[in-house]
Amino acid sequence: MSIKRENSARLFEEAKQYFPGGVNSPVRAFKSVSGPPLFIKKGDGCIITDEDNNDFIDFCCSWGPLILGHNNPRIREFVIETVKRGTSFGTPSQLGNLLGKLILDNNQYIEKIRFVSSGTEAVMSALRLARGVTGKNKVIKFDGCYHGHVDSLLVKAGSGLATFGVSTSAGIPESFAKETIVIPLNDREVLSQTLEEYGNDIACVIIEPIPANNGLLLQDASFLEFLREQCTQHNVLLIFDEVISGFRIGFEGAAGYYNIQPDIITYGKIIGGGMPVGAYGANKEIMAHIAPDGAVYQAGTLSANPVAMAAGFATLQQLLLDNFYPFLEERTKTFARVIQEYATKKGWELSVPHIGSIFWINFSTEKISRADQIDAANMEKFKILHHELLQRGVYLGPSGYEVGFISAAHQNQDLGQALQAMQESLEIVFNSK
Ligand SMILES: *Cc1c(COP(=O)(O)O)cnc(C)c1O
Repeated sequence: MSIKRENSARLFEEAKQYFPGGVNSPVRAFKSVSGPPLFIKKGDGCIITDEDNNDFIDFCCSWGPLILGHNNPRIREFVIETVKRGTSFGTPSQLGNLLGKLILDNNQYIEKIRFVSSGTEAVMSALRLARGVTGKNKVIKFDGCYHGHVDSLLVKAGSGLATFGVSTSAGIPESFAKETIVIPLNDREVLSQTLEEYGNDIACVIIEPIPANNGLLLQDASFLEFLREQCTQHNVLLIFDEVISGFRIGFEGAAGYYNIQPDIITYGKIIGGGMPVGAYGANKEIMAHIAPDGAVYQAGTLSANPVAMAAGFATLQQLLLDNFYPFLEERTKTFARVIQEYATKKGWELSVPHIGSIFWINFSTEKISRADQIDAANMEKFKILHHELLQRGVYLGPSGYEVGFISAAHQNQDLGQALQAMQESLEIVFNSK
């Protein structure tokens, strides 16, 4: 049994003539799973349809933004209504105010916000802001956190515990990588030693408080609290990169979930409701450093364009409805628990860490909170799982390091169907040698 992928295969061959690797973002190329990438032609609710007319229950949800599922009627209607009046004016607009107010009225962790057009741009700007505010240059990041393709953050640890970064991409000057210090997650000792030693040169520590780009590396709440205290003590700004966790774990994201006040928060993904939007926010004093109020320059031709603001507004408004988050979390918990119980009964090396509406299929029973605890050899199992799930109408992001997302459009019936497919597929993963 194998689903037809002829049209996707043909389109992919064509795309290779136009785009490097046939794609406009690398992980879409299906390099770590089998077959050509699926060319999706439409999405509705939790279902996506490819160019060969296969339907899939989608757990990638455009990598996170679609917390309401595909083609949400209220987002669609508001976007269409807005686009009829033009797409971008390069001026302020009332829709920008509307979204800004909605966010700030319902988030006690930031007082002002600046909209940009992607998560990467939000992070890049937040780093500049932290450097502008502190007058210091170096940045601490954690191994296993992704912050977009910002030069100085595409780095990994060199040898040793707390070390200056080595770039993970060609085209990044060594001098940039050297401004970044990479340390392991969830390790208080290395953190405090590093701040002790380099604190005077460090502008900020950046973390995904819920690291969800390299598996789901849930941190101890006490570690995040310790991180907050240490940053304050060393006069270092704390940036929560909430491009995934923002509006996902609750309207106030991970800051609200853990009740920790970072100095700067970055957003992306959900904030744009499927349109290209990112943002960063902080208290009024810190945000006063941004141009035109202050000396930190940051600008954008299409920033806060009305169409993107409309999509964001129509999305976030729905997230504020009563019980939106508890409901989604409950469904996710049940989904993860059923897989977990099945695996445990079978004695398989598998666990399903989850938080809010994020889950991860982890081919290990160990609790994992650091990147170096993931065994790369297990990705072979994921490859089989991904393939078998596709055959059964379920789409996961095409890498075992990616998490899955459950949207409000995933009904119990869809989840039941996906669980059935998951059990059959895992049976094959664990019984094929
Ligand atoms: C996706 C992501 C980014 C980058 O956002 P883009 O919109 O892809 O540029 C940055 N940080 C985190 C935590 C992300 O998940």
